[in-house]
Formats: sequence, C-alpha cells, structure tokens
Amino acid sequence: MFDLKLAARQNTNHSSVIQVGDEFIGKEELCLIAGPCAVETEAQLNQIAKGISKLGVKFMRGGAYKPRTSPYAFQGLQKEGLKLLKSAAQKYNLKIVTEVLDTSLIEEVYPFADILQVGSRNAKNYQFLKELGKLDKPILLKRGMSSTVNEWLLAAEYILLGGNQNVILCERGIRTFDTSTRNTMDIAAIPLAKELSHLPVIADPSQGTGKRSLVTPLSLAAVAAGADGLMIEVHNEPEEALSDGFQSIYLSKLGAYIKAIQAQAKLSNRTLNLNIPNKIS
Ligand code: PEP
Ligand code: MN
Repeated sequence: MFDLKLAARQNTNHSSVIQVGDEFIGKEELCLIAGPCAVETEAQLNQIAKGISKLGVKFMRGGAYKPRTSPYAFQGLQKEGLKLLKSAAQKYNLKIVTEVLDTSLIEEVYPFADILQVGSRNAKNYQFLKELGKLDKPILLKRGMSSTVNEWLLAAEYILLGGNQNVILCERGIRTFDTSTRNTMDIAAIPLAKELSHLPVIADPSQGTGKRSLVTPLSLAAVAAGADGLMIEVHNEPEEALSDGFQSIYLSKLGAYIKAIQAQAKLSNRTLNLNIPNKIS
C-alpha cells in the first residue's frame, strides 16, 4: 500500500465535484452515461443518441478507438467515429465520453470528447497517465482489471499530480478465479474508494458483469453502495453489435432501467441528473 496525497480524502466533507460544461459529476445528482460500446454506423449512433436523449440522458458513451483483445476484432471507426459522435452530440445536445487509447491519440481525440475515457488496460500506463495530467478536460479513469483499489487511486494520483484535477473514478470489475461473469464487479470498492478519496466514483456494470441481465441489478447495487453515477452500454440492436452486444441493454428497455435507478436513488436521497423527458424531439 502506498500513501495517497492529492487523491486522498482529507475529511468527511471533502468531495470533489467535476464540471463538464454546464453539468456536474459528484454532486447529489447521479450521472448516467449511456450509449454503445462502439460507434458502428451513422444510423446506429443517431438512433441511440435520439433514443437516450428522449429519455433525458445527458451523457453519451461510444468508442471510436476500441481496445480489443483480438487484433482481428472490430477496432472502431477511429476518426470517422469521432466525427459521428460530434455530430450526434450536437444534434441531440449530448456530452461525449469516448476512450483515448494512447498518448499519440490525445491530440486527435481531445476536441471530440467532453470526458476522455482511460480504459482498464491503460490504468497502469504511467507515462500515458502523466500526459493526461497535462489536459484540462475530465478523465474517466477505469479501474485496471488487475488493479487493487490502492493501485487504482494511485493511477488517479498520477493524473492529479500532472495538474489535471478532473478525475472521475470508474469501477468496472476485476479478474478473479470466477469466470461465471466476464469480470467480478467489486461493489465494495465503490464505498471504499469514496472513503479513501475525494474523487467521484461511478460504476460500469456492463464491463463489470459482461451479461445484459446483470446490468440492472448491479446498477442498483452500485447506487445503493454510494456511486455518483453509472455508465452503461445500450444498443438499438444488441444482437448485431460489433462489440459487447451481449452486455448491452436494449434501447427499448432503457426507460424501464431509468425508472428502476430513480427509485433506488431516492432511497439514498439522490436523484438522477436527466433532462425533462421528451424535451428534445
Ligand atoms: C468499454 O468501456 O467499452 C471498455 C473497453 O472498457 P474497459 O476499459 O473497462 O474494458
Ligand atoms: Mn464495451
């Protein structure tokens, strides 16, 4: 265990709020980031953007550069995907969360992202984390799949030390002996990270479980455990998805998902940060 300095919580009232344009993450309102694992086509992205914005969702995820285990798997639309994200975001008034895979891609991805996602595979790429510390945009830092909570918070420390104070932690499951689920979603890590650090903590039960049917229950558990938000994969046609369709919830079921989360949030005296439904046509 190594000591935290900048990432450490100093007292019970010490909680950082991350500003993303006119939105805030880490306040009483929970953030909901929804969207496909990967940007696939203009039609796919627009349909999802339209669907989520109709339900009041303010943040859309979507990978343009995908870190795939197999080099033969779909690697993302890359620059074309970034452009599609930007135009869907403008059309539907959404903030974009997208992954930056490598230092060499920071310059390219930066103008297209409101929040830059650092994937699990990069959570120990220290030179990359140092580079992200030089930026002025929020970083969504996934927990490394083999990182202890201390190592995850130290990864955040690298970014903070570089001068970027806008770090959002994201629990996305870890590798354990149990292969029944894709990863073992570490619910305990959520309140623990919040106890040890002032940074907001969100949960990604899509990567965390790898199974569509487990996304709602684990989202509820994350909210009950004190998460400041959720990031989930949603697809209009999960069976046709080019990545992670098996863990993507149906766009047609997102309304029911939101209702369930709202009910759970209420129990912790929190609300979901949504636009008034149907405000955007
Ligand atoms: C993703 O969000 O699609 C993703 C690849 O995440 P992770 O880095 O947690 O595997
Ligand atoms: Mn994914």
